[in-house]
Amino acid sequence: MNRYLPVVGMEVHAELLTKSKMFCRCSTRFGAPPNSQTCPVCLGFPGVLPVTNKRAVEFTIMTALALDCEIARYAHFARKNYFYPDLPKNYQISQYELPLGKNGRLEIEIGGKKKAIRIRRVHLEEDTGRLIHMGDKSYIDFNRSGVPLMEIVTEPDINSPEEAKEFLERLRLLLQYLGVCDGKMEEGSLRCEPNISLYDLETDSWGTKVEIKNLGSIRAVGEALEYEINRQLKILQSGGTIVQETRGWSEERKETFSMRSKEEAHDYRYFPEPDIPPIIVDDEWLREIRERIPELPAEKEERFVKEMGLSKEEAHILVVSLPLARLFEEAISLYPEPKKVANWLISDFQGILNTEKKSIEEVPFRAEFLVEMLKLLDDGTISIRIAKEIFPQVVLEGKAPKKIVEEKGLLQIADEEVIRRIVMEVISEEKEAVEQYLKGKEKAMGFLMGQIMKKTKGKANPSIASQILKEKLEELKR
Ligand SMILES: [Zn+2]
Repeated sequence: MNRYLPVVGMEVHAELLTKSKMFCRCSTRFGAPPNSQTCPVCLGFPGVLPVTNKRAVEFTIMTALALDCEIARYAHFARKNYFYPDLPKNYQISQYELPLGKNGRLEIEIGGKKKAIRIRRVHLEEDTGRLIHMGDKSYIDFNRSGVPLMEIVTEPDINSPEEAKEFLERLRLLLQYLGVCDGKMEEGSLRCEPNISLYDLETDSWGTKVEIKNLGSIRAVGEALEYEINRQLKILQSGGTIVQETRGWSEERKETFSMRSKEEAHDYRYFPEPDIPPIIVDDEWLREIRERIPELPAEKEERFVKEMGLSKEEAHILVVSLPLARLFEEAISLYPEPKKVANWLISDFQGILNTEKKSIEEVPFRAEFLVEMLKLLDDGTISIRIAKEIFPQVVLEGKAPKKIVEEKGLLQIADEEVIRRIVMEVISEEKEAVEQYLKGKEKAMGFLMGQIMKKTKGKANPSIASQILKEKLEELKR
């Protein structure tokens, strides 16, 4: 391996979160019945006129800005000509020599080491329809046809599967923070096609590029690259040559397989799209778009450390999940104790989600519930034990803590009379422990407290109970 360095470049396609399609008014909603969101424009009928979705252009410029790109002040769409059944007009409207953004960068960090991955270009195009193969028949769903698609292309700066995964995680998070793409790889709204070759350090020469398709998750990207590095290495070590091709990834077999060889480059006969006016980005518009960029993950992380007093680790855990960061910010706006809130969210809340194998979006939990519970804890209505006991129900059923506590009769007992009675009961029942305590064995105190908590099912207010217990035992000493 020392002789070869893996060289990976990435092509990422992100479906933009606009309500309507790129050049028509059809809805982009995912999961609608096949071909229910179509019109003559996105079905490629002759004689129709496409109209540019302004918001999609803004989303692309916004992303390019966040990726430190140079923004084109003059750009236009181009026709990329090719025939495929999912593309009824035989060309895709895309961008060619004038992308909206170019020469950017995205910083990644692995084990404390930072590295910038250069972004070659960010451009806007339209998605194609979706082919569905069933048995010996193929079907086409054109709902996806014409959905705004942003393409982000990196320079070949990625040198390991870990870097590739880290890059994708960071990029996906950035797109989610910007609100331009939901990042759902399993629904195909974020798709990634890495190309990989092995650079020969001994002869100082580039290897042959292989492109990988059909990667449904970031984990799969890592696995496919790992597999492909080993496959290419074995071929080179046995004196073979790598074929330039596109390979698919089989999730079942955990291996790549040849899809088609790329012996001749496609000639797409690009030419400027004559039906759509060019895009002119003036200072005013660019400023407006720049102002719409929200706080991005790196800034948020820094603010959580500097202003909230969280550790770098805590801040990082909260920030790498946008829904978790949102929960945290909502909770501290109602209950300004960041450390306490972060602690509950990071350990207890995430712990419950992990055990139940659920994502934040799948549970009806709300920030107000955590705040309500913390207040119940503060005013002594419930004990920490009860809080931990009811929290899973709060998270998984979205039930208000107060309600659970009332329904289950879990309100903490703070009535001194009631506690005194229970303390007396325990003292008369646990003669041995009382005797030991009187002989100076401090430990017996803990045992007696345990008995009180057992009798009250954990509901006795611990500080009141221990105070009364101490008083009673002191009285016995005399
Ligand atoms: Zn349409």
